[in-house]
Amino acid sequence: MTTPFHDRDTGQRLLARIGEKLHALGATERAPIRLMEVCGGHTHAIFRHGLAGVMPPGMEFLHGPGCPVCVLPMGRIDDCVAIAEDPRVILATFGDAMRVPGSRKSLLQAKADGADIRMVYSPLDALTLARRNPDREVVFFGLGFETTMPSTALTVLRAEREGIANFSLFCNHITITPTIKAVLDSPGMAVDGFIGPGHVSMVIGLRPYRFIAERYDRPLVVAGFEPLDVLQSVWMLLDQIGRGVALIENQYGRIVPEDGNPQAQAAIAEVFETRAFFEWRGLGSIDESGVAIRDRYARFDAERRFAVRSPTVADPDGCRCGDVLKGGIKPWQCGLFGGACTPETPVGALMVSSEGACAAHHQYGGLRKGAA
Ligand code: SF4
Repeated sequence: MTTPFHDRDTGQRLLARIGEKLHALGATERAPIRLMEVCGGHTHAIFRHGLAGVMPPGMEFLHGPGCPVCVLPMGRIDDCVAIAEDPRVILATFGDAMRVPGSRKSLLQAKADGADIRMVYSPLDALTLARRNPDREVVFFGLGFETTMPSTALTVLRAEREGIANFSLFCNHITITPTIKAVLDSPGMAVDGFIGPGHVSMVIGLRPYRFIAERYDRPLVVAGFEPLDVLQSVWMLLDQIGRGVALIENQYGRIVPEDGNPQAQAAIAEVFETRAFFEWRGLGSIDESGVAIRDRYARFDAERRFAVRSPTVADPDGCRCGDVLKGGIKPWQCGLFGGACTPETPVGALMVSSEGACAAHHQYGGLRKGAA
């Protein structure tokens, strides 16, 4: 579909201006400006629209950790499978979580082995399941960044209001800014600026990103997901770098309010509290990067209703998801890419979701070096 956000002439003009900026900055193919798109939605857009391929020389996209399915550690999948295998339980989950590999099996394999696992489109669907099956325990596998947290929080509040006793949440919600901090703190960090997530920012606004500019001297531009959004954001970042400033800017002002969504923030604050740390696949433990259910809603917490162990499980041999997530290597530089690891037979989580860098590269980038 052609929309004003896909206009070819505007795109060509933006690319020419990006090329001028890169030239002025002295960026080359060997010494490029590296911009990390934090969000998996941007990774998908960059591959789908071939933006990396049309970029002038001297600019490189790094694919960041903003795909929630991709960063779920194996231990949490193992916990989820264990809960689902309890014969009292109906486990409700989003479709893209079904194929994430655990150390024993994925949820899809557990379903094939007889576990009662149902695919849902929202947490409210899980609540409906609980109402319809009062003799079963319905557990919703909640995951995602601040984008999906409000709907999960509102579902818990509704379960409480309606007195639904057989509903609980296995909470794997994570937060975006500690993750960006972990990338900035990683040894050899080579990110010159960030394309900031659009959907998360609708909820949290711009303020939480300020530390990136103030403490790390890196710019961030919150961006939309259309091709011209991404190109304009790249230009805005290069413009800041050229002027020697680091600011938090909003390219996606048509959707993202400066202060985010106060009602959504209030629902999150009511139901969730920050965990001391949370384990991320490929990135290890990151302080204050996840949330858990507050004590006052403990009866809806699957971690307290079921025996959840959360073991730390090493990634499979040869899997380099962590290096891809930190921008250290490209997907095709993992030795398993396109061979042992494909979207049909994913070894690492980055090959599962369409927002995962490896899956997106496999689908749109081909197997060739240099496609992105
Ligand atoms: S190819 Fe597979 S194992 Fe390798 S980094 Fe990508 S998802 Fe991980």
